[in-house]
Amino acid sequence: MLGTIFSIEDFAVNDGPGVRTTVFLKGCPLRCQWCHNPEGMSFEKEWIEKKNGERSLCGEDIDSADLAEMLLRDEKIFRLNEGGVTFSGGEPLAQSEFLFDVISSLKGRVHCAVETSGYASAGVFEKIAGISDLILIDCKTTDPETHKKYTGFDNGPILENLKRLCASENKFIVRVPLIPSVNDSRENMLALLGIIRGAKSLLGVEILPYHKTAGAKYCMLGKTYFPDFDVNAKPNFTDVFSENNINCTVL
Ligand code: SF4
Repeated sequence: MLGTIFSIEDFAVNDGPGVRTTVFLKGCPLRCQWCHNPEGMSFEKEWIEKKNGERSLCGEDIDSADLAEMLLRDEKIFRLNEGGVTFSGGEPLAQSEFLFDVISSLKGRVHCAVETSGYASAGVFEKIAGISDLILIDCKTTDPETHKKYTGFDNGPILENLKRLCASENKFIVRVPLIPSVNDSRENMLALLGIIRGAKSLLGVEILPYHKTAGAKYCMLGKTYFPDFDVNAKPNFTDVFSENNINCTVL
């Protein structure tokens, strides 16, 4: 089965346990104003043009069996480093059949993590979570209006999928991109805590501070970057998670 990816990065250290290879799948239904992978938003291939005029096509079709074979070449290295493969994007669940095919071929040989916004149907989410070794699920904000304002979409399906994980045996980590004055309030963290507290397969919470350098890639794609928040503000963070015995790391 064919899928579209836009990058494969080796030696990733913040995308799950150990040293990992991260595969970025192209296309995402959300439009987060802070997205630092704007080349992963469109499902179509697109040209990237550097300041020096050099152009390259972003996006490549690849067969799931070929991708799995390529990743399996590093099977021993992954095992030595207690690492594996992480599928990110874009939104990997948006190409769920391709993703399922690749993970099925790696299953039991390579540790497979999936980094997702959680924006997917219950069926797709459960199918991928059920076959993965680890889910890294973003929770940008628990507030529906704020979510819609800054990502363009309702967070209902995301919160439902997060609750599914909390009730499941699937290991997962919750990731929060920390955006100044958008989701950095103590109230938002407490609301998230209320959802995840007590989840038996939760490994922890990871906080991803916002970097305004994200804006640099947009002009290379011919897009403008005008986020509706103060990119220079220093975000607040209250670690209500550690206070409640949940492992919390600021990446
Ligand atoms: S969900 Fe992730 S990839 Fe999609 S727009 Fe938001 S930050 Fe970008």
